[in-house]
Amino acid sequence: MVVQKFGGTSVADPAAVRRLIEIVRTARARDGRGPAVVVSAMSGVTDLLLGIASAAGSSSGMSGALERIEQLRERHLAMARDLVPEPERDALLDEINTTLNQLAAVVQALAVLREVSPRTLDVIAAMGELLSSRVVAAALTAAGIPAEWVDARRAIVTTADHMRATPLAAETAQALRAIVVPALDAKRVPVLGGFVGATVHGNTTTLGRGGSDYSGALVGAGIGAREIQIWTDVDGMLTADPRVIRQPRLVPKLSFAEAAELAYFGAKVLHPSTILPAVERNIPVRILNSMRPEGPGTLITAEPSLDGTPLTGLASKGNVVVVDITSTRMLMAYGFLRRVFEVFERFSTAVDVVTTSEVSVSVTVDDAKAIPAITEALSEFAEVSTESDMALLCAVGDRLRDEPEIAARVVSVLEEVPLRMISQAASRRNITVVLRQADLAHAMQRLHEEFFQ
Ligand code: ADP
Ligand code: ASP
Ligand code: MG
Repeated sequence: MVVQKFGGTSVADPAAVRRLIEIVRTARARDGRGPAVVVSAMSGVTDLLLGIASAAGSSSGMSGALERIEQLRERHLAMARDLVPEPERDALLDEINTTLNQLAAVVQALAVLREVSPRTLDVIAAMGELLSSRVVAAALTAAGIPAEWVDARRAIVTTADHMRATPLAAETAQALRAIVVPALDAKRVPVLGGFVGATVHGNTTTLGRGGSDYSGALVGAGIGAREIQIWTDVDGMLTADPRVIRQPRLVPKLSFAEAAELAYFGAKVLHPSTILPAVERNIPVRILNSMRPEGPGTLITAEPSLDGTPLTGLASKGNVVVVDITSTRMLMAYGFLRRVFEVFERFSTAVDVVTTSEVSVSVTVDDAKAIPAITEALSEFAEVSTESDMALLCAVGDRLRDEPEIAARVVSVLEEVPLRMISQAASRRNITVVLRQADLAHAMQRLHEEFFQ
């Protein structure tokens, strides 16, 4: 059977949930049981919840926060009234009201405390998925598909790194076997909120923005699904971000490794961690459009994609900062890079691209919060300069490994664009260039025309 993960737009309103119901019905008819369903919060809800949390922590934000809670209540109650008839409706309305009353109580406490801890933020952020999964479970049952709401806080066991928790593999697998598999065996459709988990002590956690894809893959791996389906609002993995390139093409097939590179370097359609559980159990991932379910979508498997176009896709990340670290002490010395990266580690800042010359190292960082502190620490042993408003542009394809002329073409197509760094790492299936943010759209366009049009 399959796992079907539905993103925010795929559960945004009653019409979207009706499409979801038909997609689930089709999968169930084909496989005779299942599927397991994982849903995101309705679109915009997680942003709204995080906005409520930050407003609640300030003295003036309280009334606005409570007003937004009432908007959330109305939106979910309206969904419930539309999708679930009496008498089942009442229980759902109660659940929605209870969750939002809890939210209001938390917000009121925050107004007193004036401080929102990461742990409290997770309790608030998780409510979007807890609500949407309740609504979807009840709507499926009302449509004649027996469904069972599963509390993701019992099914996904994580570390206590709030807002970016890491699932604990053995504990999560065990919990999924104990909770989700019996529902499937009883011919019910388990419905879980994505994005959400809890520590072994039961404290609510979340997996990082966009993390519902990851939940979907974890469930797929945990129950040994034959396929993990990511239902979203585009036809599949596209050759470039449709918000940058007007008409990107659909990528019909790509490898796990390519998908991981594209996701990591900015293809938002897939959360970067999604691939991990799929690779571990060798489960194909398919990306599909919930508004056009008949489309073929994108299939991601272990097979390298060596046929087709020379490149598989482009991805980009804007608003990155380049940090240049220069020291003559680096010349012929060992231990210098260790000292440099130790500083980034100390300030919990991930580095994406690294290039070095004889006496300098350049790195890119997309979380600029700690840059002043990092600069200060590095200045103790090197000259440091930073440049913001930069971007990464990444060209991905398995064929880059064995066909060096493709890399040469990438760089030569960008000849009139000033490139700050160029990097190709050991996997050799990606070439990444760092350029000014202002040049990104143009550079993307040039590459897309060259390789995909
Ligand atoms: P969901 O809510 O279903 O998880 P997301 O908004 O997280 O959806 O991801 C889908 C969006 O990702 C698309 O609407 C598209 O704008 C964006 N996107 C960025 N890069 C790509 C790409 N290479 N292929 C497809 N979509 C992409
Ligand atoms: N609702 C969460 C977010 O907006 C998780 C997800 O949609 O994947 O980040
Ligand atoms: Mg997403």
